Amino acid sequence: MRKRYSSRPLRAFPFRIRHAAPVWWSAVVSQLDSPTRGDGPVRTCIGCRVRAAKRELLRVVAGTDAKTQDRAHGSWFVVPDPRGTAPGRGAHLHPTLDCLALAERKRAFVRALRHETGERGPLSLERLREHLTRHDAAPR
Ligand SMILES: [Zn+2]
Repeated sequence: MRKRYSSRPLRAFPFRIRHAAPVWWSAVVSQLDSPTRGDGPVRTCIGCRVRAAKRELLRVVAGTDAKTQDRAHGSWFVVPDPRGTAPGRGAHLHPTLDCLALAERKRAFVRALRHETGERGPLSLERLREHLTRHDAAPR
């Protein structure tokens, strides 16, 4: 559990956590915590950790260029999934280079995407960086 929630009474949570459930914990917390005002689902940016409407965030997934069955021999990339339809575990972040840099510093991609660096090798951010360089509208 994240430290910032540790002062809350446990009964504030209507569910119990017994083991690592296939639920993105921060997404659950953000939906409980924030008024959604009819904005739809809310997700936490893995860079700045700010909660935002899902549609304001870019979904990313881990992808590989491995052609063989042995996926361990391919290179792994974080790839943008703007339509949010790619299978597998995704993570969300603001589509800005700032949040990319923050997430990179915290190794948030490896954690959020459950990427096993030991088995699969490093998770390259180059494709995502290229995408954001093209689409980042934030003033530099
Ligand atoms: Zn962010």
